[in-house]
Amino acid sequence: MKLYMVADMEGATGITHRDQLMETGGKRYWDGCKLLTGDINAVIEGAVSEGVTEVLVSEGHANMRNVLVDELHPAGRVLRGPARWDVKPLCQVGAADASYDMGVFVGFHSRAGTPGGLLCHTWASAVVHKLSINGVEVGETAINAAILGDLGIPIGLVCGGDDLAREARSDLGEVECAITKDVLGFDIAVCPGPKKTLPMLREAAAQAVRRHREGAFEPYRVEGPVTITVEVLSDAQARRMVLTEGFERVERRVLTCRGESATAALSLAWRGIQEVFHKPDSWLQ
Ligand SMILES: [Zn+2]
Repeated sequence: MKLYMVADMEGATGITHRDQLMETGGKRYWDGCKLLTGDINAVIEGAVSEGVTEVLVSEGHANMRNVLVDELHPAGRVLRGPARWDVKPLCQVGAADASYDMGVFVGFHSRAGTPGGLLCHTWASAVVHKLSINGVEVGETAINAAILGDLGIPIGLVCGGDDLAREARSDLGEVECAITKDVLGFDIAVCPGPKKTLPMLREAAAQAVRRHREGAFEPYRVEGPVTITVEVLSDAQARRMVLTEGFERVERRVLTCRGESATAALSLAWRGIQEVFHKPDSWLQ
């Protein structure tokens, strides 16, 4: 049995602050990488204890090079490298195919605008105020579940704060949730240490694999054609995004794009977002 893991970082054990998430944070960032890698290894260990033989870990945070590869569990391989549209057109998901049996999300966070959500955002907080699939507002949990769902891969386990667990259960149903911290606000949470969370993550992964074997999880499927609606933060971003072929500006800061499947539509959405993200209007807003 093979697992496909998407690894973000905000929801990992003990992480509450930007210093732990960006290289500019220095030692705090490297501490964050260690905490994230610990969570990933615990999930792999739990899955392996139930017969999983292979886990592809797709990095999904910032520069997408946060996992400490020298500490990675031997059953894991990690997909590292930037989410540039030309090489990784689905942002946090790459090199996925239908050979994977179950998806797991580690270090995940709640979607942009979640009241009291820890470090909540959707794909790129500098650009995206709100993102919807066929009119339903979503975050990275449903986005990545829809992409894997198009390949027939169900999500069995989601790991992050209790705010994320609420979102995951609302979007995906009775998925296994491993709660790494109790969230009190955007940059504040009650955090148990790894000595507490790692055994819990191991057991949650083992339980998810057992439940998967019993047929508990269905792929998250979005019927096509699919419309993605993106509300951006500024007029300047809207003006730039509409230059990407396939985008329509339907309100001042609201744009839409379409695809025959969720994967096609989300890929186009990511292209438009990264066009804005990497080329901000500099001298004229
Ligand atoms: Zn992230």
